[in-house]
Amino acid sequence: MMLKIKCPKCDVEGSLSLIEPSYRGPYKCWKCRALFTLNIENNVVKSCKPLSEAEFERKQKIESLKTKLKRR
Ligand SMILES: [Zn+2]
Repeated sequence: MMLKIKCPKCDVEGSLSLIEPSYRGPYKCWKCRALFTLNIENNVVKSCKPLSEAEFERKQKIESLKTKLKRR
């Protein structure tokens, strides 16, 4: 499922592929490279908060760990 995400900073639309209708995690705008924490519930964006680069990387590491664990 592809969901359109509108960047709150530059108003450019990007897309995010979702495995589940709910998602809570990092999102990076392809245009202005701004980082956000997305909170999606039932394919609806509930919140989109700015995120620092360090925090983004930390969250991405956690996400990749989770997917690694799921594959096993
Ligand atoms: Zn942007």
